[in-house]
Amino acid sequence: MSLPTGIGMTSDRTRARMVDVLRRTGIRDERVLAAMMEIPRHLFVEPGIASRAYEDTPLPIGHGQTISSPSVVAMMTQLLLEKGPVAKVLEIGTGCGYQAAILAKLVKEVYTLERLAPLMDKARRNLRDLRFYNVRFKHADGHKGYPEGGPYDGILCAATASHVPAALKEQLAVGGRLVIPVGTDEQWLHVVDRTATGFTDERRDAVRFVPLLPGIA
Ligand code: SAH
Repeated sequence: MSLPTGIGMTSDRTRARMVDVLRRTGIRDERVLAAMMEIPRHLFVEPGIASRAYEDTPLPIGHGQTISSPSVVAMMTQLLLEKGPVAKVLEIGTGCGYQAAILAKLVKEVYTLERLAPLMDKARRNLRDLRFYNVRFKHADGHKGYPEGGPYDGILCAATASHVPAALKEQLAVGGRLVIPVGTDEQWLHVVDRTATGFTDERRDAVRFVPLLPGIA
C-alpha cells in the first residue's frame, strides 16, 4: 500500500519518534507499533494542527470531540489483541477514523459505530483515501452495539460510559475481549473477557475520554 508522506513535522521521521515514545510508555506489541508507524495520524486532524499530530496528546477533531492520544490508542489496541487471534472487531465512537485505521491494519474485519453523522462521513473519506476496504461504518448508538455484525472477537469503546453496556458484553464471542472506559469524573479502563461460563471484569489504568452519549445526531 502506498501512503501519502509528509514533510517536516508530519514526516516519517517524526512518526518514528512517536513510536519510540510509545515503546517507552510500555507498548510491546510489534504489530501495534508497526501499524502506528504506518498510519499518517496528521491526515486525520485539522490541517491547522497537523504539526502536532505526533505529540502524545489528544487533539480536537470538531463537534466537541477529540482523537485519543497515540499512547491511549496503542494501549487499547494492545489490550484488545493480547489474548489470541482476533479476526473481527467492533469499535464504538469512530470519530475521525484513526483508531479504526489502526485496527483495520491488524484485523480482517472492522465494524465502527458513530452517533454524529458528519464525523462518520469524514472518517469514511479518511479511510477511503488510505484505501482501507475492510471497515464498515454505521451511524448508530453504540450503547446497543451492532448485533448484526457479531459476535466479535474484540470490542473497543472510545467514549466513557457510566457502566458497561450489557449489549456489548452479549455481542462478544466466547474468548473475546471488550476494552472500555467506565466512569464520569473518575474514569478507569476496564477489560471485560467473555469466558465459557460468563465474564471477568478487570479495572486497569486511569483514563480521560469524552462521554458515550445517548441516541444519534
Ligand atoms: N476513535 C476515535 C476517537 C473518537 S472520540 C478516533 O480515533 O478519532 C469518541 C467518539 O465517540 C466521538 O466521535 C463521539 O461522537 C462518539 N460517541 C459518543 N457517544 C456515542 C454513542 N453512543 N454511539 C456512537 N458513538 C458515540
